[in-house]
Amino acid sequence: MDYLPLRTSKMSIKARLTLWFTLVAFLLVLIVQGFMLIVNGNAVVDDADALLVSEVQANMKKVDERDGRIDVNDVDAFKNGVYTSVYSAAGKFLSGAVPFETDEPFRAGVTRPVTVSGREYILYDMFVPLDTGGVWVRGITGAETAETLLQTVLDLSRFTLPLVLVLAAVGGYLTARSALKPIRQITEAANAINDGNDLSRRIGLGKPGSHDELQKLSDTFDNMFARLEKSFNSQQQFTSDVSHELRTPTTVILAECDYTRKHARTAEDYGAALEVVSRQARKMSRLVESLLSLSRLDLGTAKTAFEVEDVSEMLSVICAETALVRRKGITLCSDIQEGVAADIDVTLMSRLVQNLIDNAYKYGREGGMVDVSLHTDGPWAVITVADNGVGIAKDHLEKIWQRFYQEDSSRSGGEGLGLGLAMVKQIAEVHGGGVSVESEPGVGSTFTVKIPRITN
Ligand code: ADP
Repeated sequence: MDYLPLRTSKMSIKARLTLWFTLVAFLLVLIVQGFMLIVNGNAVVDDADALLVSEVQANMKKVDERDGRIDVNDVDAFKNGVYTSVYSAAGKFLSGAVPFETDEPFRAGVTRPVTVSGREYILYDMFVPLDTGGVWVRGITGAETAETLLQTVLDLSRFTLPLVLVLAAVGGYLTARSALKPIRQITEAANAINDGNDLSRRIGLGKPGSHDELQKLSDTFDNMFARLEKSFNSQQQFTSDVSHELRTPTTVILAECDYTRKHARTAEDYGAALEVVSRQARKMSRLVESLLSLSRLDLGTAKTAFEVEDVSEMLSVICAETALVRRKGITLCSDIQEGVAADIDVTLMSRLVQNLIDNAYKYGREGGMVDVSLHTDGPWAVITVADNGVGIAKDHLEKIWQRFYQEDSSRSGGEGLGLGLAMVKQIAEVHGGGVSVESEPGVGSTFTVKIPRITN
């Protein structure tokens, strides 16, 4: 038996999926926060710089000189987080506001960081030249540095990261659990079938039309169970049919022996008893022989010898031999196309034809006709066997191919086993072909066999 090689893991699928979800979420949070840090860090520093410069430049314009006096009244001391102070050219504080005292020398047009009591600031100076010598305008703003931002992000992470991880783990677990629930159902159904020997059970996930992979898997299993059930039932039916068919001749033989032992007196009595025993034994032997051939064909262990043969010749010989033994006054006519060749096992194919002709005689009417024909139809060799006998009722047409099926066993004069057509069908299929029937009760039947022929 073949088993599919499966890679298995010690962890359950649920655990693996949850772990994977959590890991991805964790990495995602890290990447997003890192990215935010880089982008925002630069943006914050750039923004602070630009704001500082623009505030200082705006305030420069507000510095006036009237009658030799410097007017700085309009200068904004604190606006948009920027402290602005004005100094004389010599560096003397004139007006404005500062967050801290500093003796940082003036440098026009250069933004630079200054650290005061552990806090970072940015400083920017501009010189406004005036008739009286000019003034320095100095702007100072608190610098939101990358480090302080990192601290904020880390503080944030302390809350968000565990939250995201818990969400990812719980979400992942719940999703995996609900997605894998059908697998549990499938396992349970398979176990129930196994434990209770109940092949009629189905998984039935109950989502018809769904394209879900597990729904497809469950449908496939259900189809497989249905097939198993069907073949198991037909196997059981077959076994009980075989026992039944073998019991009848066995019972007859035993009864005949008992009767003869008690009552037979003359040599004729013994001769008659032997005749009965031998007829029943022959029937048993035919039955066993047919069953063996059928099961060999079933299993593919029948010794077949396929060869390119002249089907026309094979049929002509069978027809000629059959016509010699005229039964029930039936006339056999044949219409055989010459030179039709096919890759066949002659023994099996002869048995197929013989079974059909035997049936045509068996169920033919006294003084009737049996027509055998062979012709080609494209890639097919078509053999027909027709009679004008009793015919087959419509509702029996499907069943006649089943093993042991007999429409009415009395009609074959007790000769029939109900295996002939099952064998015909199987032999046709072994040859890559098929068989069909058309029949009308009281008018007759035509059996048609198609097998691939050799074309050249
Ligand atoms: P059997 O041994 O009973 O002939 P078969 O498998 O050959 O078994 O045939 C199955 C049944 O099909 C027969 O019992 C008969 O009812 C029906 N049948 C087969 N061939 C013919 C035929 N040519 N005309 C009428 N009925 C037929």
